[in-house]
Amino acid sequence: MNRVHPDPSIGEGLLNLFAGLTLDTPTLVFSIGALALFMSVFAFNTAFALPARDMGLRSWGRAMLALCGGFMLFFLRGHAPLVLTFLLANVLVLLSSVICVDAHARLLEQPTPWRRLALVNALGALGTVPVYLGWLPRGVAIFAVSMTLGINFAISAHLIWRRQPGNGSRAGMLAAGILASMAGASALRGIYSISGERASVLISSQQLPQVGSLLLGALFTVGSSLAFLAMINERQQRELEARSRRDGLTGLLNRTAFFEAAHAYVAEPGGERFGVVMMDIDWFKKINDRYGHAAGDTTLTQLGRLITQHTRLSDLAGRYGGEEFCLLLKDCTLAEAQRVAQQLVSEAARQSVRLPDGGALHFTLSAGYAQRQGLQESLEQTINRADQALYEAKHAGRNRAVAALPIAVQESVPASPQGGSPDAVVTSQPA
Ligand code: GH3
Ligand code: MG
Ligand code: MG
Repeated sequence: MNRVHPDPSIGEGLLNLFAGLTLDTPTLVFSIGALALFMSVFAFNTAFALPARDMGLRSWGRAMLALCGGFMLFFLRGHAPLVLTFLLANVLVLLSSVICVDAHARLLEQPTPWRRLALVNALGALGTVPVYLGWLPRGVAIFAVSMTLGINFAISAHLIWRRQPGNGSRAGMLAAGILASMAGASALRGIYSISGERASVLISSQQLPQVGSLLLGALFTVGSSLAFLAMINERQQRELEARSRRDGLTGLLNRTAFFEAAHAYVAEPGGERFGVVMMDIDWFKKINDRYGHAAGDTTLTQLGRLITQHTRLSDLAGRYGGEEFCLLLKDCTLAEAQRVAQQLVSEAARQSVRLPDGGALHFTLSAGYAQRQGLQESLEQTINRADQALYEAKHAGRNRAVAALPIAVQESVPASPQGGSPDAVVTSQPA
């Protein structure tokens, strides 16, 4: 089949279509300045609404303010000295893109590459001086500034992109895409300014590259600001969701989140092998009664830290109830569950809890542990067996870790609410 070649006049037609836009350069320059001012107000307004968090919002506000200043000075070209409308204006535009990098770095909690930025932007700004002095044609200044802007945008895009794998942030991808396009457009503008016609770089020029790049500038000013705000919004939502899954006192998963994550793990391929440890602070009511509720809370917080320290990042640790905790140890044997349970029991007994009044209290922990027994056993059943073992640990005198009975044995031994089962395996004695 013959390929149909596009009509060569289509490209030309498109160019004519855009050239037919009746947007004049001063209007566009003024519009960019005004849009940047609006974006700055939005960024500062959002920053004031979140006083405890910065997330780069203030930086974005400053960047847009600098951009506004730069373009308003461009707008005044011919009505104010060139040192302001040319030199200072270009420096402000460069500064704006540098602060944009800083805003992105703050939002992504990464260091701002100040050294690299200072070097590149000092060179870019210096490129405008010989033009100002009349030694070099104006295109050289546009080349220097456009290329520097392009590098700054590329640095921002790279900062965001580096954070992407596994992050899946849609707003981040959008922002990186817009910034990469800005980098490309700036580079093209720079190349055109030294290879194209001189006239296109004059502020009064009505040529397509001038009008087109200003139009893109206006779109990018709004687009990059909206993408930045979308990233802030996404981060806040992510944090809110993460916080709603955690228990405020211990930082461990709350019961709902624990079961959600545990069920998801069990359903995963390879999730069939896991261990469970159930733990409960001994005589916690007495701790509250003797030292006060705040001291009880401090004890819970300290135990939360202890549990985090003694489990792998991949394990799930949840606050099951008041002073009861549950661990799901991924891909774990009974011996490994025993090691973790014993470690926690003996470490809890060894530690003391420092109280705000300078005093200290000691507490102990009882634990029951189990390993999932075959694919027919559900998560709840394994937890149940570990819970029974915890019950046995309490009855055997507390401050110890007890292994759960295998299902077959458990079924033949009726649960007794009174004494401990004689079959309970005590693996940790009181310290
Ligand atoms: P055992 O050794 O049998 O577990 O005795 P216990 O006193 O630890 O158990 P009990 O269930 O009688 O008491 C649990 C106490 O935990 C009662 C409740 O006031 C306290 N508690 C539950 N949640 C919190 C909390 O968030 N902070 C504080 N300070 N205390 C809590
Ligand atoms: Mg207790
Ligand atoms: Mg309890």
